[in-house]
Amino acid sequence: MAEKKLILTFSPDQVDSPLTFRMAKDYDLDISILRAEVNERGGKLILSLKGTEDSILKAIAFLEDNKVQVGEVARFVIRDESRCTDCSMCISICPVRAYKLNKASWKVQFEQERCIACGMCVDACPAMALECGNHLTQTV
Ligand code: SF4
Ligand code: SF4
Repeated sequence: MAEKKLILTFSPDQVDSPLTFRMAKDYDLDISILRAEVNERGGKLILSLKGTEDSILKAIAFLEDNKVQVGEVARFVIRDESRCTDCSMCISICPVRAYKLNKASWKVQFEQERCIACGMCVDACPAMALECGNHLTQTV
């Protein structure tokens, strides 16, 4: 089974449409919504798709045919260990629990493979120990 994490951008008139659910049903995909934001300018959805490679590619084509902007979530945040003060701010803010406190050493550990590159910890880190590029790597 393949997995892709995508960020979808919807225009205001698409926000209420059931495109995501149609996509899951028509292409037999497991979808987990990792983050959703809606405002007057439209909506953004970060989600994980699991299915066959072929069905994921078809689902992406379906979204693009329906004028949804599709990008792949970048998978990297870099932590400068020398700056980190183990303040734990990133633990409380991360929506996918990519940080945890090691109670033996009282050090904050980072599991990079969980990261969906939402950028929230980068903005929140008081020591400016975290860096992230764009949220999108490329149009898929
Ligand atoms: S918020 Fe920054 S300084 Fe605090 S534990 Fe996380 S990476 Fe370290
Ligand atoms: S960018 Fe930071 S807050 Fe967002 S998922 Fe990655 S580790 Fe968690």
